Amino acid sequence: MAEYETHQHDVLVIGAGGAGLRAAIEASAAGVSVGVVTKSLLGKAHTVMAEGGIAAALANVDDRDNWKVHFADTMRGGQYLNNPRMAQLHAQEAPARVRELEAWGALFDRTQDGRILQRNFGGHKYPRLAHVGDRTGLEMIRTLQDHGIHQGIDVHMECTIVTLLKDGDRVAGAFGYDRERGRFKLFQAKAVVLATGGIGRAYKVTSNSWEYTGDGLALAYHAGATLMDMEFVQFHPTGMVWPPSVRGILVTEGVRGEGGILLNKDKRRFMFDDIPPLYKNQTADNPEEGWRYTQGDKNAKRPPELLTRDHVARCIVREVKEGRGSPHGGVFLDISWIKEKLPNAAEHIKKKLPSMYHQFKQLADIDITQEPMEVGPTVHYVMGGVRVDADTQMSDVPGLFAAGECGAGLHGANRLGGNSLSDLLVFGKRAGEYAACFAKEHSAVSVNPDEVEAAARQALEPFERESGEGPFQVQHDLQNMMQDWVGIVRREEELEKALSQIPVLWERWRKVSVGGNREYNPGWHTALDLRNLLTVSEAITRAALERKESRGAHFRDDYPAKDESFAKVHMTIRKGPDGEMRISREPASEIPADLQQIIEEMK
Ligand SMILES: Cc1cc2nc3c(=O)[nH]c(=O)nc-3n(C[C@H](O)[C@H](O)[C@H](O)COP(=O)(O)OP(=O)(O)OC[C@H]3O[C@@H](n4cnc5c(N)ncnc54)[C@H](O)[C@@H]3O)c2cc1C
Repeated sequence: MAEYETHQHDVLVIGAGGAGLRAAIEASAAGVSVGVVTKSLLGKAHTVMAEGGIAAALANVDDRDNWKVHFADTMRGGQYLNNPRMAQLHAQEAPARVRELEAWGALFDRTQDGRILQRNFGGHKYPRLAHVGDRTGLEMIRTLQDHGIHQGIDVHMECTIVTLLKDGDRVAGAFGYDRERGRFKLFQAKAVVLATGGIGRAYKVTSNSWEYTGDGLALAYHAGATLMDMEFVQFHPTGMVWPPSVRGILVTEGVRGEGGILLNKDKRRFMFDDIPPLYKNQTADNPEEGWRYTQGDKNAKRPPELLTRDHVARCIVREVKEGRGSPHGGVFLDISWIKEKLPNAAEHIKKKLPSMYHQFKQLADIDITQEPMEVGPTVHYVMGGVRVDADTQMSDVPGLFAAGECGAGLHGANRLGGNSLSDLLVFGKRAGEYAACFAKEHSAVSVNPDEVEAAARQALEPFERESGEGPFQVQHDLQNMMQDWVGIVRREEELEKALSQIPVLWERWRKVSVGGNREYNPGWHTALDLRNLLTVSEAITRAALERKESRGAHFRDDYPAKDESFAKVHMTIRKGPDGEMRISREPASEIPADLQQIIEEMK
């Protein structure tokens, strides 16, 4: 019999990033008992790394902004595959969530007259990102943590959930282990909120840290929930490319928002070469106008560097492929040029982009106030995830909620920068609120001890195999395969090759063995994470193969145009009764007439 500690909560939140903490605060405020489980230390979630800011139509810098413009921008960025109700709620509620964060103690950068300052970002019509230099996520997490801790929320740190437990159709809790000692823990809960973030570690080059192995998506899928939009993986155009040890680390879009320009090896500003018709009338056709825009001139048009991320990323790939890249396989991003415009440019850059300044100084020995950076695309964000109800965030499994990056719907085919932090606040709050309601309205759950026993046995299997491959090699091969064949530019033959490799990798995973004991054993942790990585990689590959067109972040070399027959279709993924992954095409939600009218007006 496996030994495990048991904890009881009304609501269990898995993940302590922005979405998880916001959900926990809301559930706790509703008077239910709340536990938060996090794979790493409290305060070390992905959210803490967010740099550029939180998108909310506060209209502090440009009074033409309002929720309708934000809604229309989000829908256009997502190529109208967004859940329109979620996009509406997000645009309407984000300003209140930001002000609330301020009331709880967050210190944002200010306008001259003392209001929250907002900066420009790709795809947003007006300056909209509330920020704290380039350390917005840190301030957000600090504030949420302080607030949450004082509400008496129980936090279980360095504890990784490996399985969700069910009572009939309903979720009944979760089972995991603590990283330090390897001891098992059982959490019994009437409602569970998944807030586990993204899937970046399925790829070789990513801005995501070690925790982002798609756990929430895989946990939900194996518990019977539906995943959707998995083909839409966002490649951020600017990650570091040199030195190799830091490849993929993010270079915030804030650099371009502050005036940074992209150049190829011939010092040519190549983004002017390819402006999509959709953005022609909103994009500057001369550098001077673009610069004025980044300085908040209401009448100027945005520079082409601030077009949507998928477009900028593909332009960079084109320059590199055609031999016009930088020495280490990227292009140049130059903010130092603004010294031609500002007498105190170096100080200005250090003040507005302190983390970028230190990141390049310390990791690449480059002073960004004096010389350009080398950058290239990096896997950054997944638009797909657990399908949820727009208002409540509940998945298809009763009592199981999902919020933040592991939920799907808000961003459609592509996310605008800044819309994730606002997503966490708006839908984190909603998930917490409705999870608390669910817990209050439903009776207690019971956990089947046999199910717990089976989960413990499965988790320990890698120790019992005497000979077998180590998990790191399987992980390495999976990441390379996803990078090469299911990457930024996709085609049928390569996706087919990836799909044929996935069962081979699953088979290798079933045989991995790990040595040592359960106390802080990274090999064992990787073996357990691999199940999640394989699940999400298979889902991404199947969905990418099925969508035979190019839309948003999904680009098919063999189908480079949009296809109307896919315009209102989601790829959904479920576990079949035989345990096999099933993919279906399902119609997208209709855009109600009042929201459609807003979209038309904004065009
Ligand atoms: C470098 C960088 C900069 C960014 N900048 C911005 C920006 O400026 N604006 C913006 O809007 N977005 C930005 N993003 C995106 C944004 O930060 C993320 O999408 C967002 O923070 C995700 O928040 P979350 O709450 O969903 O998850 P996370 O903050 O990723 O937190 C996930 C939590 O789940 C836990 N967890 C995971 N698996 C398990 C498990 N099995 N068991 C227990 N716990 C688990 C983790 O330990 C963690 O606590 C940026 C992303 C990166 C990487």
